[in-house]
Amino acid sequence: MPEKSFITHLECGLCGRKYDPNKLWNLCPECGKPLLARYDLDGARQALSPKGLESREPTLWRYRELLPVRDETFKLSLGEGYTPLIRAFRLEKEIGHSPVFIKDEGLNPTGSFKARGLCVAVSRAYELGAKALSIPSAGNAACALSAYAALAGLEAHVYMPSDVPKPFINECRVLGAQVHLIDGLITDCGRAARADLEKYGRFDVSTLKEPYRIEGKKTMGYELAEQLGWALPDVIIYPTGGGTGLVGMWKAFDEMEKLGWIGSKRPRMVTVQSEGCAPIVKAFHEGKEFAEPWPNAKTIADGLRVPAAIGDFLILRALRENRGTAVAVPDSEILQATYLLGKTTGIWPAPEGGATLAACIRLKKAGWVKENESVVLFNTGNGAKYSRLWD
Ligand SMILES: *Cc1c(COP(=O)(O)O)cnc(C)c1O
Repeated sequence: MPEKSFITHLECGLCGRKYDPNKLWNLCPECGKPLLARYDLDGARQALSPKGLESREPTLWRYRELLPVRDETFKLSLGEGYTPLIRAFRLEKEIGHSPVFIKDEGLNPTGSFKARGLCVAVSRAYELGAKALSIPSAGNAACALSAYAALAGLEAHVYMPSDVPKPFINECRVLGAQVHLIDGLITDCGRAARADLEKYGRFDVSTLKEPYRIEGKKTMGYELAEQLGWALPDVIIYPTGGGTGLVGMWKAFDEMEKLGWIGSKRPRMVTVQSEGCAPIVKAFHEGKEFAEPWPNAKTIADGLRVPAAIGDFLILRALRENRGTAVAVPDSEILQATYLLGKTTGIWPAPEGGATLAACIRLKKAGWVKENESVVLFNTGNGAKYSRLWD
């Protein structure tokens, strides 16, 4: 059986209009919302089975039929994905709940799960002829773009807040990217990046502003199911910034059900944000479809410092359809939980990973997480580059 991508078209997440997947697209030209990739899942079901995955490479390309890249030549790889799912026995004793698993995304190339999204987005942009790529980032996405652009030989332009910790800047420079430092937040970086896009003919790979970062991130959902023997946990706690990972996993679960790989039961998904920047939490509890921009966003968890997310309605939909919830925790609890996670698991977590533990402790106390329910915490990055936090 030839191995090929079963992508059929792109579809707007809001208005549902369809687009040709063999051209470069950013947002829906009609309504300005994110486009999502759709696949011939009946065809994919004939071509691939869970059994057939067993002998494949331990990277996200093991799910290549469900990814958008058509030609082998453009599948860039630095060993991204297929990260361990670790049972946290000592942490379980500490917090009085079991079972708890950590999905350790800090082991990805460039130290965060941003590698998944950018691996697939850069590969596909490369295949479709882009030459120069541009991204606003709190740090991790910039490093990931720099890495895959270096591998492909494409130009990378990264726009980061000027207060980003130095190790992120250093890494981007070593990987050959053009670094632009902006006084302000990620939204200001986005504005600066946009101003240069047309002028220099660059392709924008911002979160959810092109359709394929989410395809890379959805592989976290496929992996969870595969690693748990084609079952899903009761609860997933996810540190939410732009929301690609959360929306991506929700998409993966729907695809896997249509592929016949899992049943209809879904994990309850939890968005965790910092009290200093919690637009999704606020909108969720107010019953809104869209989130309002958060004024004066401030948190030690840089990946969560996203005052406005273009995919807000998709995140909120995913939470509501999965009977999930949204929790805001103060930075003091995030930091405490980051250390607790570290000393009980041997993983040096990013503060965003620590935030998931802080939320877990709160939800357990509130009785939302019940006795014996399986919980997966996403440690989305390695803590090493957050240099200011540990000094
Ligand atoms: C970007 C980032 C997040 C937020 O991820 P989204 O999928 O965009 O919500 C969380 N943690 C870390 C470490 C990040 O770099």
